[in-house]
Amino acid sequence: MSPSKSVILVTGGSGLVGQAIHWVVENDPKYGKREGEEWVFLTSKDGNLIDPAATKAIFEKYRPTHVIHLAAKVGGLFGNMAANLDYFRDNLLINDNILHNAKEFGVQKVVSCLSTCIFPDKTTYPIDETMVHHGPPHDSNFGYSHSKRMVDVMNRAYNEQFGCNFTSVIPTNVFGPHDNFHLVNSHVIPGLIHKCYLAQQNGTPFVMAGTGRPLRQFIYSRDLARLFVWTLREYKEITPLILSVPEEEEVSIKQVGDAIVKAMEYTGDYRFDTTKADGQYKKTASNKKLMTLNPDFKFTPFDVALDETVQWFKENVDTIRK
Ligand code: NDP
Repeated sequence: MSPSKSVILVTGGSGLVGQAIHWVVENDPKYGKREGEEWVFLTSKDGNLIDPAATKAIFEKYRPTHVIHLAAKVGGLFGNMAANLDYFRDNLLINDNILHNAKEFGVQKVVSCLSTCIFPDKTTYPIDETMVHHGPPHDSNFGYSHSKRMVDVMNRAYNEQFGCNFTSVIPTNVFGPHDNFHLVNSHVIPGLIHKCYLAQQNGTPFVMAGTGRPLRQFIYSRDLARLFVWTLREYKEITPLILSVPEEEEVSIKQVGDAIVKAMEYTGDYRFDTTKADGQYKKTASNKKLMTLNPDFKFTPFDVALDETVQWFKENVDTIRK
């Protein structure tokens, strides 16, 4: 980034990832705010990004030089299955409004956020960045997935036609402070933390669905935030970059449960309901491209990150999304 004044606009600034970037910008000695940088964190109260006029007004107000684009209609499995068209249209409109205004206002760089669920359903492992458009995504959230794939298409076209420096990153499963801890409509880690907390409060068993054997790559939101800042400053390509822990750091759902029980200091009955389905065994993604470009990056150990998340949950349990 140029040493002169930069205005970095973060859409979706109130969400899990946006709050983590805010924390890193304020607190991290290496990836934190630099002289001449002004960071602006948007929420939906600043304007509905589905609306072209509201989006344009935001760009007119802040005149950003850089954009980290996180805002999205995000939902659980059932929400997606019930409304694939809404997830497709809302996200397509949000992404089109952001990139169109970024081009019109001469933004120097945009980093948009995709997701590993956009990869083909039938694929080989590990998944890498070249495979985004190699086959249909999973049926359950094809609307959301296709809208995210179109960001990569737009980035390429804006670059070819207008020379824009718009790129994207693909995080694996994110967890951390400020997550959505809803019992049903949430991702696996925050949902289980909430479940374990209730078991502890009520003296009831903590029962995990399935065998606990499936493997997942989880990235701590604050590590992801550091990598977003690094991408904004250092990544030169238009094509997407997977932001993930290494393949060897995949953890099993049982390891997740064990770490939650330990961090929560839960001593009650803890078991697995093996009559419940497990879901996909693994979805391993390669972080080779990231580690080639940024070989010194150190991920927070999973247990440490999980413990910080549980402590944050306990301190904020009365006010959080749940
Ligand atoms: P959250 O659901 O925590 O936050 C979503 C953010 O988007 C909020 O700030 C919300 O504002 C904002 N937003 C939603 N709709 C609109 C709208 N119409 N206009 C303006 N703002 C809007 O999401 P995450 O932080 O988890 O996700 C951020 C990005 O990361 C998304 O693009 C998501 O697809 C991606 N991602 C997330 C993963 C995960 O595991 N969480 C994994 C991979 C990718 P408000 O709070 O005001 O409603």
